[in-house]
Amino acid sequence: DMFSKSTSNAESASWKKGEPVPYAALCHTFEQIEDTTKRLQILDYLVKFLISVIKLSPESLLTVIYLSINKLCPEYEGLELGIGESLLLKAIAESTGREMKKIKADYAEIGDLGVIAMNSRSNQPTMFKPKALTIPHVFKTLKDIASLTGNSSQKQKVDKIKLMLVSCRNKEAKYLMRSLEGKLRIGLAERTVVVALAQAIVLSRPNITKLSKEKMQLELEEAASVVKSVYSELPCYDLIVPALLKGDIKGLKDACKLTPGIPLKPMLAHPTKALTDILDRFENIAFTCEYKYDGERAQIHKLEDGSMRIYSRNSENMSNKYPDVMERLGKFATPNTTSFVLDCEAVAWDREQKCILPFQVLSTRKRKDVKEEDIKVQVCIFTFDLLYLNGESLLREPLAKRRELLLEYFNEVDGEFAFAKSMNSTQIEDIQIFLDQSVADNCEGLMVKTLNGTEATYEPSKRSRNWLKVKKDYLAGVGDSIDLVVIGAYVGRGKRTGVYGGYLLACYDPDREEYQSICKIGTGFSEQDLEDHHKDLKEHVIPEPKSYYMLGENNKPDVWFAPVRVWEIKCADLSVSPVYKAAVGIVDSNKGISLRFPRFIRLRDDKTPENATSSEQIAEMYNDQKLNTVKNDTSMGVD
Ligand code: ATP
Repeated sequence: DMFSKSTSNAESASWKKGEPVPYAALCHTFEQIEDTTKRLQILDYLVKFLISVIKLSPESLLTVIYLSINKLCPEYEGLELGIGESLLLKAIAESTGREMKKIKADYAEIGDLGVIAMNSRSNQPTMFKPKALTIPHVFKTLKDIASLTGNSSQKQKVDKIKLMLVSCRNKEAKYLMRSLEGKLRIGLAERTVVVALAQAIVLSRPNITKLSKEKMQLELEEAASVVKSVYSELPCYDLIVPALLKGDIKGLKDACKLTPGIPLKPMLAHPTKALTDILDRFENIAFTCEYKYDGERAQIHKLEDGSMRIYSRNSENMSNKYPDVMERLGKFATPNTTSFVLDCEAVAWDREQKCILPFQVLSTRKRKDVKEEDIKVQVCIFTFDLLYLNGESLLREPLAKRRELLLEYFNEVDGEFAFAKSMNSTQIEDIQIFLDQSVADNCEGLMVKTLNGTEATYEPSKRSRNWLKVKKDYLAGVGDSIDLVVIGAYVGRGKRTGVYGGYLLACYDPDREEYQSICKIGTGFSEQDLEDHHKDLKEHVIPEPKSYYMLGENNKPDVWFAPVRVWEIKCADLSVSPVYKAAVGIVDSNKGISLRFPRFIRLRDDKTPENATSSEQIAEMYNDQKLNTVKNDTSMGVD
């Protein structure tokens, strides 16, 4: 291919002011990033590229950010990439004229659709040079592809992909395919993109070179922390990027604040092992204990226009899952509330017995397009926090104050809406009694939270030590449950003939964008579970493991699955393992971590696979456990 040889990526990576950014320029940056593992180097490549974009084509900055994190829009809008490989293979075959059989054979061997697309391309003689791809064009086409639905959508998708593939040069096909597949896998984490964005904004200021080195460093750090914090409050680049371009870092905080209608990332809690952990952590600090309700997190928004919305833990709009709750929301707020954001748990409720029902009952509710007349499981909303009220963000107010406003501005309605039950004693005996009571009331345990001062603000998206969770069964020494992705299964034998007999599970590493194998599991399933899982998962079988599955040599299930299901798992403990890859490189440079005696607890359909327990958390749990069991370390490798 004479043309693609004559223009290297680096050359086609430059462009003139006002021109659309060439896709090649982004791909060149991706290539640089992929070729190094050094964090600072990665940041530097991206910052340099973003500065060019800001200086030459600022109107493309937003799109460049989205392509760098491989998303199409804010999460709550729900438009996603992740095109199945059969469609992508078809597009490659049709656009290159290569035989499907050969492409499939390559895929079985190489496992990376991006590489296959790239190699297939450069074997093709080109008669004329198609127009180079630009960022706006690629982004728009990706969005169009993701939005297509209906009968003929498959063919339309293939056609659109083909058209782009024909225009790809050099490595473009590789990154395009990976974008379409839903995983870029160049080692670029979203938090790095956020930091790069902040730094590039600072560094594109006209007079910036006049600052001393120290001052500059301070400015860069400050900028990164501002953008990070604004993003967790308002996870919407559509608003943040234009505000940054217009008002710099200083203007950002005023321009972008928590806004009803845009779900913020929920604050998360830190696990504890014993009630005494609470006293150790909160010595001399005022704290409160609340019931930890076992349902589904619900963030309830009332917008200034009077409309209401319910969002899930994942920022998904759940309003049409809860039409019954939506209908009643108006009653819960007093008339002097014009807008608000509540943090709550939606819990299954027995209207006759007037009591909480276990999570399993809630999980039988349909998730989408629920009709009111079909609802069998009633729900009561337990609210534990007020994050926004009448035009003002309360995130920086202490919990004591937020709770006071919550009680003042909202009303309990029997069996429909209630304040989370709380207790303020710091006596361990009282806490124990409250814990037992919570369990008797069908709750999972307690949440223990700081009350006053700067230590009691609401920290969006953080797993904070200002919120501790005490689950009833930690106390038996089992530890926190873990949420894992199902990536493969073993054919069932004997009693399990006809269903899968066991499964291969993985945790997620967001930095490397890969699923890392962690254990096999075969216990904890009821017969019904086994049937349900088989029926559901056989729809997600894929011919080969994804290239972003990090596997040990012996991880060889009979079938592979696309990463779609998250399961909550409990185990006896964690151990270093030569067979599995979870958290590899964190605790040990070659070995991963595995779970001993894993048991299935439940399906977590409120978590996406990317929200599964992370490699970092697995490593942390492993290390915590070592601290607690120095004396009797009996852990040994699994398998
Ligand atoms: P993660 O900690 O990763 O969110 P998880 O989703 O399994 O894990 P848990 O460990 O069960 O969450 O604990 C936090 C969850 O508990 C919250 O996300 C919320 O849904 C629920 N919850 C129930 N009662 C409360 C309460 N009083 N305060 C805060 N959260 C509560």
